[in-house]
Amino acid sequence: MKIGIVGLGLIGGSLGLDFRRLGHQVLGVARRAATGEAAIACGAVDQASTELQSLQAADIVFLCTPIHMIEAISIDLIPHLSPQTILTDVGSVKGAIVDAVTPHWPNFVGGHPMAGKTEVGIAVAEPHLFAQRAYVITPVATTPTTAVAVLRELATALQAQVLTCTPAQHDRAVAWISHLPVMISGSLIQACLNEPDAHIRKLAESLASSGFCDTSRVGGGHPELGLMMARYNRDEVLRSLQAYQQEIQQLTTLVATDQWAALAARLTENHQARSRFIQSTPEPDTAAP
Ligand code: NAP
Repeated sequence: MKIGIVGLGLIGGSLGLDFRRLGHQVLGVARRAATGEAAIACGAVDQASTELQSLQAADIVFLCTPIHMIEAISIDLIPHLSPQTILTDVGSVKGAIVDAVTPHWPNFVGGHPMAGKTEVGIAVAEPHLFAQRAYVITPVATTPTTAVAVLRELATALQAQVLTCTPAQHDRAVAWISHLPVMISGSLIQACLNEPDAHIRKLAESLASSGFCDTSRVGGGHPELGLMMARYNRDEVLRSLQAYQQEIQQLTTLVATDQWAALAARLTENHQARSRFIQSTPEPDTAAP
C-alpha cells in the first residue's frame, strides 16, 4: 500500500517506521525540508517532500501535524487526492477534527493512536510505539465502512488494540484519562512554584524523587499538546476540571475535619480501582461495526 504521512514528528515518524517495516511504501510531507531529510535518514519514509501534491498516488494519508493545522492541511491536500484516497488523522481530540474535515472529504475517518512520549519531533520517533496500545477509530454515520476497515487493518498490523467509538465518546473519555491529568499534573508543578519561601522551594526541588517524577511527567510535557487539548476539547476538559475541583473539595473537608476512616475508605477504593485503568492491554473492541 502507498501510505502518505503529513507531519513527520514523533507520531508521524513512528508510524512511518512501522509501516515501512511492514512493507508499505511511505511518502512523507514535512513543513521543513530538514525534517524530511531526517525522516529519510532514520528510515521513517521512502521519500519526503514539502509539497502536498507529492501524495497524489497515496491510498491513505495520515495527518500527523499539530491539531490546529489538521483542517487547513486537509483543505490544501484534497485537490491532489483521488476520490478513493482515505484520509485519517492522529489528533488527540476527535470531535472538532471530525466535524471540520468530514464535510470537505467524506472518505475521512478520525483516529487516535494512544501512545506518546514527553519529547516530540522526528528525533524521538521509534518503531513499535503503538504496540499493545489502544488505537481509537471514531467513524460517524456517513463514514465509508471501507475506510474504517482499512484503518483498522493498518492499526492492527501495528499490533495496536483497535477500539471504535463516536468522536464525542472519545473526547469525554480522554478528558478523564489524558487531558485532565495533563492539567492536574501541570497545576501540581505550578503549586510548587507558588511556595512563597524560596529556601523551601529550593529544598523541595532537591528532594523531588520518583513520586514527583511520576506525578509531574505529563504536566511538564510539551506545552503545545496541553494547549491543544484544552482548546479543542474545551467543554469536556472544563467538565472534568469542575468534577475534579469537587473531588478536591471533598478531600479537603475530610482532612480538615479529621475524618480519617472516610479518608481511608477513599484511599482503599483508589488503590483497588487504579488497576482497572492501568491494564497493560486494552480490552478488545466491543463496539466494532
Ligand atoms: P511533533 O513531534 O511536534 O510532530 C508534529 C510535526 O508536524 C512536526 O514534525 C512539524 O514539522 C509538523 N508540521 C507542523 N506544521 C506542519 C505543516 N504545515 N505541514 C507539514 N508538517 C507540519 O508532534 P506529535 O507528538 O507527533 O503530534 C502530532 C499529532 O499527534 C498531534 O495532532 C497530536 O495531537 C497527536 N498525538 C500526539 C501524541 C503524543 O503524545 N505526542 C499522542 C497521540 C497523538 P517540523 O518538524 O518541521 O516542525
